[in-house]
Order: sequence, then C-alpha cells, then structure tokens
Amino acid sequence: MRTFSYHRAADIPSALEALTTPGTQLIAGGTEMVNWLKEGIESPGRLVDISRLPLTEIAADGVLRIGALARMSDVAAHPVVESDYPVLRDSLLRAASAQLRNMATVGGNLQQRTRCPYFRSDTPVACNKRSPGSGCSAFRGDTSGQAIFGWSESCVATHPSDFAVALAALDAVVVVQGPAGERRISATEFHRLPGDTPEVHTELASDELIIAVEIPRPAPHSHYLKVRERVSYEFAIVSVAAVVSLDGDTITSARIALGGVAHRPWRLTAAEAALTGVSLSDRDALTEAVALSFTDARPLADNGYKVTLAQRAAVRALEEAR
Ligand code: SF4
Repeated sequence: MRTFSYHRAADIPSALEALTTPGTQLIAGGTEMVNWLKEGIESPGRLVDISRLPLTEIAADGVLRIGALARMSDVAAHPVVESDYPVLRDSLLRAASAQLRNMATVGGNLQQRTRCPYFRSDTPVACNKRSPGSGCSAFRGDTSGQAIFGWSESCVATHPSDFAVALAALDAVVVVQGPAGERRISATEFHRLPGDTPEVHTELASDELIIAVEIPRPAPHSHYLKVRERVSYEFAIVSVAAVVSLDGDTITSARIALGGVAHRPWRLTAAEAALTGVSLSDRDALTEAVALSFTDARPLADNGYKVTLAQRAAVRALEEAR
C-alpha cells in the first residue's frame, strides 16, 4: 500500500505554496489523477485538493472567460456557450461520459497526459512517458492510433482532449498563475511536441496553476466533428474543430484544428490561408485547400488511413460550420 497525506487548499496562494513542496500533486475533479493513483503511475507523497478554490466562474463580455475549475458539463450547458460557441459545446459533449463530465474540470481536461495504450499497460513495457529513457513500445508496435504529425521516435502518442482542439481553433488563451504572477499561453502552444522529452506534457511550469481559459470572440459558425470507434466514451481517431467567418457562402477567415493526429492539437495553417475567398458550397475547392496542410504528414506503419480520414473530416466540419 502506498500512503500519502491529503490537504485542502483554502485559496490560490496556499495552492501555489503547496506546489513548492516536492512530491506534491494537485487534485480537483480527480477523474484522471485517481486513475493514475490506482494504477501506480502517480504516487505523490502529498495530495492537495484545489476543488474549492473560487475558479468556477463562466463570464461572457465579448471575451468568454471560463474558470479552470468549471465542470465540463456546466460549461457545455452555459447559455452563451450553447448559442455562440457550438464548437466548444460539442467538443465537451462528445468527450468522456456524462458522469465524468459532471466531475471533470476544464483545467484538468487540459492537463490530461498525451499517451497511448502502452502507457497504461498492466505489465511494464518501454514507455518514455512513464519511465523516461526506457524507449517507446508504440513506435515499433501498433501504430494504428498514433500520430501523423509532429511525432518523434521518443513518442508517437496523440493528445486525448477534445476541448483542447476546440480551444486551439478558437485562438484561446490559457491563463496561468505562478509565484511571479499571471502569464498567458496560446492554447495552440500549451501542449508540447514530444521531441526528446515526451514526459514533459505542457508549457505549464511545476510551480504554476491554470486559473482560466479565455476565448477572444464568439464563433457562431463553428463545428466539432469527432470520428471514433464507438459513439460514446471513446477518444477520437480523428477530430476536427472548424471555425469560419462568412460573407454569404464565402469564407472570409477560417481556423481549423485537428485532434487525434499529433501530440497536441494541430492547426492547419496552410489550409486556413488558402480557404479565404472559397465558397462553402465548392467541395472541390475546400478539399484542395485542406490538402495543402497534409504535404508534411508523416504517417507511421499502420496509420496511413488517418491522412485521408482527417482531410475528409476537415472538409465535412467546414461544411457543417455553416
Ligand atoms: Fe509511451 Fe508515448 Fe511511446 Fe506510447 S507513444 S509507448 S505513451 S512513449
């Protein structure tokens, strides 16, 4: 049996203070951390509960600000999210199960570990995320669900969050607080590519806390499309968050992020540039523009299908965003 102490943080300064003690981990909804504790993947000496900090507010005043401890289900049901941010609502409603969404916080959602099934193997296998330097079983194993962009030989896993994909397409910002005060990190850059240090998941420093996410403007023409092996409670094989501005049927700006294809949400910047001036009714032109972002795709042995699937899903998501 592994023992640990449990504390409850009374306010943000005491939560930040707790992070300065080695061996401390924070817990809020607990939907991820409790798994890791049970499986022995995490074994902190001290667990600090931040679930009662005043970070649950959802405020819309031009900018949508969502407190880090807002529950996924509460965000999805918020009237402004329902009316003005369909891509955000659907990314939340297509994630996990209703029970998990009632517990999980948006801050915790963003801190889910990028991992693959080998990471949770009951019998120990090489996994650089679980045991840095041990190797990557997936790279020469089953790569059917792994990345096609941005991977390294150290890790080929894909990020599991749907919400993070929507945030990337919405040009959102993750607001974090540390001993030196607040800092703001682009949602697109918040999660790291694996490189030689896949065990480092995000740009969040060890002494910092996510306090909110901010979305700069409404996105009424937006859509989240998730392709998965079963209709409920499954990670995406491929997902797409598409946000467009329109003049009639013509795209005046487009932002597209993919999930299930990389170690972090993956923006299709070349496609976004090419889509300006394209009609949403012109599927050939949409397909041609989207394809520009796949010239640097690097499929692995078993996942070449994702290159085709992701492009088709992106075109469909653009059409649905209308
Ligand atoms: Fe571990 Fe990443 Fe390799 Fe999966 S892909 S075995 S998570 S290092």
